[in-house]
Amino acid sequence: MNLPLSVRAGSTNLESAADSIRAILQIIREGERFLVCSHSRPDGDAVGSMLAMGMFLEQMGKRADLVTADRVPAVYRTLPRADTIRTAMRVHGPYDAAILLECDGLERTRLLGLEKFLLLNIDHHASGRIYGRVNWIDHEAASVGEMVFRLIHAAGATVTPEIATCIYTTVLTDTGGFIYGGTHASTFALARDLALAGANPIRIAQDVYFSTAMSKLLLLGAALRNLKREGRLAWLWITHQDMVRACAAEEDCEGIVNYALSIAGVEAAVFLRELPEQQIRVSLRSQGKIDVAAIAQRLDGGGHENASGCTLAGPLSRAMEQILGEMRTALAPVAAKPG
Ligand code: 5GP
Repeated sequence: MNLPLSVRAGSTNLESAADSIRAILQIIREGERFLVCSHSRPDGDAVGSMLAMGMFLEQMGKRADLVTADRVPAVYRTLPRADTIRTAMRVHGPYDAAILLECDGLERTRLLGLEKFLLLNIDHHASGRIYGRVNWIDHEAASVGEMVFRLIHAAGATVTPEIATCIYTTVLTDTGGFIYGGTHASTFALARDLALAGANPIRIAQDVYFSTAMSKLLLLGAALRNLKREGRLAWLWITHQDMVRACAAEEDCEGIVNYALSIAGVEAAVFLRELPEQQIRVSLRSQGKIDVAAIAQRLDGGGHENASGCTLAGPLSRAMEQILGEMRTALAPVAAKPG
């Protein structure tokens, strides 16, 4: 099969999703050695889906190398086999295919050397794009881990307690603890299946939400001192100096944007973080009335309709005006009609 098979599946297009799953499984069955990658600055879905995919491939008698550009955040290092994820800048090796999880483009991995491999693209972002031999994009999926679960089932393989733990973590974190837009009745059915397969929901929740580094709380304090609100929009930021003072790592920024979004009456939120080299990382969130994936994509980023990100040129004040301008424009029609 040489033509790219490209499927943007929602729940309305299950036949096409089945085609993608069949094509991916065929390539897996015919190959021996696979590279499994996800995006830079990996989050719970990136880490958990890579680990689950790696264990699934091993069960199929294959070799899997798991690689990301950045290290696994401390909070996910207790996941089964988390120590098998390597960090690298460039990938090479005799791989039959590279499986890209949660990446809407090769550049999202920040890994060099991927373009020469047969690429299997499995993604659930609204900004998901077609770039692989097979492109299975399902923005109804709560996490890419959920898609890996479906793949494992279709292969007739076993969801071991270790795999269930990793996939449960992807669902828990990408739905923000079952509270974000991507949470459906089917998400709870999946969580139930995973708990029955051996995932321990309480232990996983404790590992994810009750093992906060001190540096993260210090950073949060700095961000909250910069919290601003204007109607339905709230924003907050941290400078590079704040990061240094709190001895914070990049992963300590995860979730800070949600404090701005949690204010009563706020519809959309922005978090900005100054990087050392005059670049600004931006996180955007929406309660659902505006599409922040569209805004991020216009600025060379991506993500979901209610959670997206991008990187802007500094200085911080300029990036802030730029992104707030975009958000005010998007919110103007919403602000006009209450409710
Ligand atoms: P966060 O704000 O937590 O970094 O990211 C929110 C969502 O947007 C995640 O699904 C993440 O994968 C996506 N995202 C964040 N930054 C970027 C970016 O620069 N490019 C793309 N394509 N997606 C991004």
